[in-house]
Amino acid sequence: DEPILEVDDLYVHFSTREGQVRAVNGVSYTVSQGETLAILGESGSGKSVSAQAIMGILETPPAVIRGKGVRFHGQDILTMTAEEQRQVRGPGISMIFQDALSALNPVYSVGYQIGEMFREHRGMSRRDARLRAVELMDRVRIPAAKSRVGDYPHQFSGGMRQRVMIAMALALDPHILIADEPTTALDVTVQAQVMKLLEQLQEETGMGLILITHDLGVVNEVADKVAVMYAGKIVETGTVDEVFSSPRHPYTEGLMNSVPDTASKDRLRPIVGQPPNLAFIPPGCAFHPRCPYKRSPGAPDCAVDVPALREIGPGRQVSCHYSEEVFGELA
Ligand code: SF4
Ligand code: MG
Repeated sequence: DEPILEVDDLYVHFSTREGQVRAVNGVSYTVSQGETLAILGESGSGKSVSAQAIMGILETPPAVIRGKGVRFHGQDILTMTAEEQRQVRGPGISMIFQDALSALNPVYSVGYQIGEMFREHRGMSRRDARLRAVELMDRVRIPAAKSRVGDYPHQFSGGMRQRVMIAMALALDPHILIADEPTTALDVTVQAQVMKLLEQLQEETGMGLILITHDLGVVNEVADKVAVMYAGKIVETGTVDEVFSSPRHPYTEGLMNSVPDTASKDRLRPIVGQPPNLAFIPPGCAFHPRCPYKRSPGAPDCAVDVPALREIGPGRQVSCHYSEEVFGELA
């Protein structure tokens, strides 16, 4: 079936005094109805920036956004005027962030802020908007919504504030919800509750969910497919089951090995080195300075030749010259 969102060869660069910061370098993915795509990577991999570009919340300049297209139900957002973008994106695609406290306005009640979505986009009266706010607070399982609709953000716990932000994001029935590290600031129990809520809401609404995270546990719990990002590029894609059980890129393998295996009590083996500064991305394969399998000199030479993201199976892509030599052919 038709994807709701198609990101096609997206680039986002920033002009800075340090030079060109190449945050996103030719990223493509699709999200269909009811599907959850996880974008997995360390901080500084460009995963948030690609979402911010889609949401139109990057300042241009310094950001320069190009690509073959960002199509929402087949319509290219990148070629729209600002007003067309506002009409499509406002109700169609919404986003929640890691830090609910700074995303919410401290001087307005949560009910007012949720209701603002209805007043602004649906022209509702204050009274009706407040009623809808209570409904939404119920929907995101905030207890005693009716008596709490007039409370201010600081009167809620971190987990409940995150629910308020989810309520605002859901107000206009988006077809795509982008969640950028939605639970990173929360403690483990609350994290699990918020992820469960997102899953339930997705089931109820059929929206497509893009989950941006560095947390492999979260990916494993909720995502259908995963795109692993490194230095602004996708280096591996596949279903979560496939990628987790048989990674085909050395970076993905490194991520898997850096998670403690509680069953066998294996020791943690973090990936040696740091992700690159996006103003100085290494030539050739960007991962080569950290890669235990790199060949240089060689043919291809990992320090010189850029590996293309290539198909190795249905829905399965990898960008490594030596994937087959290192990991074998896909079964
Ligand atoms: Fe490692 Fe070379 Fe593959 Fe890059 S292309 S991941 S350096 S083996
Ligand atoms: Mg981020």
